[in-house]
Amino acid sequence: MSYTSVNEIRTPAMKKARIYLDHQSTTPIDPRAYAAMEPWFREEYGNPHATVHAFGWRAHGAIEESRARIASLVRSDPEEIIFTSGATEANNMAIIGVARALKSARDEILISAIEHASVTAPCAALKEDGFRITVIPVDHEGHIDLGALEARLSHRVALVSVMAVNNEIGTIQSLAEIIDKCRRVGALVHSDAAQALCAMDLDTHGLGIDLMTLSSHKCYGPKGVGALYLRAGLPVHIRPLMFGGGQESGLRPGTLPTPLCVGFGRACEILLSEGRDERMRLGELSRRFLHRLLMSLPDTRVNGPDHARHPGNINVQFPGIDASILATNLQPEVACSIASSCHSGIIGPSHVLAAIGLNDDEINCSVRFGIGRFTTMAEVDKAAALIVRAAERLARELV
Ligand code: PMP
Repeated sequence: MSYTSVNEIRTPAMKKARIYLDHQSTTPIDPRAYAAMEPWFREEYGNPHATVHAFGWRAHGAIEESRARIASLVRSDPEEIIFTSGATEANNMAIIGVARALKSARDEILISAIEHASVTAPCAALKEDGFRITVIPVDHEGHIDLGALEARLSHRVALVSVMAVNNEIGTIQSLAEIIDKCRRVGALVHSDAAQALCAMDLDTHGLGIDLMTLSSHKCYGPKGVGALYLRAGLPVHIRPLMFGGGQESGLRPGTLPTPLCVGFGRACEILLSEGRDERMRLGELSRRFLHRLLMSLPDTRVNGPDHARHPGNINVQFPGIDASILATNLQPEVACSIASSCHSGIIGPSHVLAAIGLNDDEINCSVRFGIGRFTTMAEVDKAAALIVRAAERLARELV
C-alpha cells in the first residue's frame, strides 16, 4: 500500500494532531472493516442461528463467509475456526479445555516466561486443580530456551503454550522447532497469536499446530471478537468453558455477534491482500523512528531482538528517565505504552522485561511504541522530535 492510499483512508480522527503509537495495545478499526459491519448492525439484525427464515440465513451466510476469510489468512479450514469474544477467551478455552480433557492422562502444562496474563492466569487457576505448571525461560531477546523446553518435555505434558509474537518486545518465536519437539512426546501445542496477524504469515496447516488464538482488535477489526483455531482431527475433545445452546460445535455457546464477526473477517481479508506490503512499510517507519531517537538520544537502548520481531514494535530504554513521567509528558500529542503491566488494578514491573534479564531501573525507563497501518512518516518524525524534546527536558530536570 502506498503512503497516498494510507492517507486516503485515514478518518478525520486519525488526521488530528494526536499521534497514536500504541498499536500492540489495540489497533484502530480499518474504515473498510467498519463499513462492512454497518448493515449487520442496522438492516440485517436476524439471529444467525435462526434456521427457518431468510433473516437468519443471511446472517448465517455472512458469518460463514467471515469464518472462511479468517481461515484463509491463517491457512486453515473454516470448520477449524471457533469464534470467541477475543484472545483472552480463546486462550482460556484452549488451556482449560485441553487440561480438563486430558486430566486423567497428563497433568503438566508448559508455558514460556513471557506469556500474556490471559495464558498465565488460567494456568494459575489450573494449578489449584492439581496441574503442574512449568515456566520455560527465554533468552535476552525473548526466544524460548529450546534446551530447557526439551528437558521438561515428558509424557506427563498435556499442553505447551508459547506465544507466536510477544506483545511487549515483539519477539517472533520459532514455532516450527517448538512443535517438532513437542510432537515427540505427544504434547499438544497452543500458540497465542493475538499479535501475530500483523507481524508475520501464519500457516496453521504447514506448522501442524494444534490450537491457535486470534484477536480482531489487534488487526484493525472490531473489539469484542476473536477466534480459536482448533486443528481438525485433534486427538482430544476439548471441554467447553460455557454451556448453553450448542453454537460453535458446542464449544462456545451463545448467539454470535454478526457485525463483529463480519468486521473481523473483512480485517483478515485486508491483511491477506495487503499484509506483506504493510509489514515492509511498518519496518521502514520503525527503523526511521528508532534512528531519529538514537541520533538525538544516543543512550537509548533497544529491548528485545534486532531481527525477527514485530515490524511495528519498538521497545526502548531511556536510561535515567522515568517512563511513566515521559509518557505523561507526551500527552495529549503522542500515545505510547510503559513497561509496567496492570492486572486487576495492581501495577507491577513487566514480567516480560524481567524475563529477558532487565533490572527494575531498566524496566522503569522502558517505553513501548507501536507503529501501525495509518501511521504516516510525518507522524513518526513529529513523534520522535516530541519524545526527544521531552526526554531532554526530563534529563535536565534530573541534574
Ligand atoms: N494475548 C496477547 C499477546 C495480547 O497482546 C492480548 C491483548 N493485550 C491478549 C492476549 C488479550 O486479547 P483480547 O483483548 O482480544 O482479549
